[in-house]
Amino acid sequence: MNDRVSVYIGLGSNLQNPKRQVETALEELAQLPDTSLLDHSSLYRSRPVGPQDQDDFINAVAHLSTALAADSLLDALQQLEQQHHRVRERRWGPRSLDLDLLLYGARTLDTPRLKVPHPESAKRSFVLLPLHEVAPTDLRIPGLGLLQTLVTGTERSDIERLA
Ligand code: AMP
Repeated sequence: MNDRVSVYIGLGSNLQNPKRQVETALEELAQLPDTSLLDHSSLYRSRPVGPQDQDDFINAVAHLSTALAADSLLDALQQLEQQHHRVRERRWGPRSLDLDLLLYGARTLDTPRLKVPHPESAKRSFVLLPLHEVAPTDLRIPGLGLLQTLVTGTERSDIERLA
């Protein structure tokens, strides 16, 4: 068995009851093989990036411990997206469930199908704010720096934390 790695997954949905999609996905992440769900953030509501003629997103971040290799974890995440009948008509468009592998330990991965830290999401408030809830305060995002510093500079006008 591989050593366990601390990983963070970004969840997002803006179709077909987004809150339910995210809550169900959190339960499903907890069921992945050789994986434990350690914690998850609150749910957040955020304005979409890109085309504005779509509903707000519901976002969260999950903290897992896993013995899965990064590419096997991505396979599992993509399978969950399919189970949620993921609809994706266009780039930045609406989706029933989006799962991003944000961080895989302290590793940097750059393969055709897997870039970690996730290049776009790691800069977005809908990732940084929920990540900050569940990550240690001294967490460093490889290539970007200290999470605390990134959170301080992030735009907050388009996001709210839900009770
Ligand atoms: P998206 O539209 O964000 O769901 O993009 C899905 C594509 O991003 C898939 O083809 C993945 O192989 C690729 N991808 C690259 N890096 C990552 C990552 N860290 N997490 C999830 N998908 C990734």
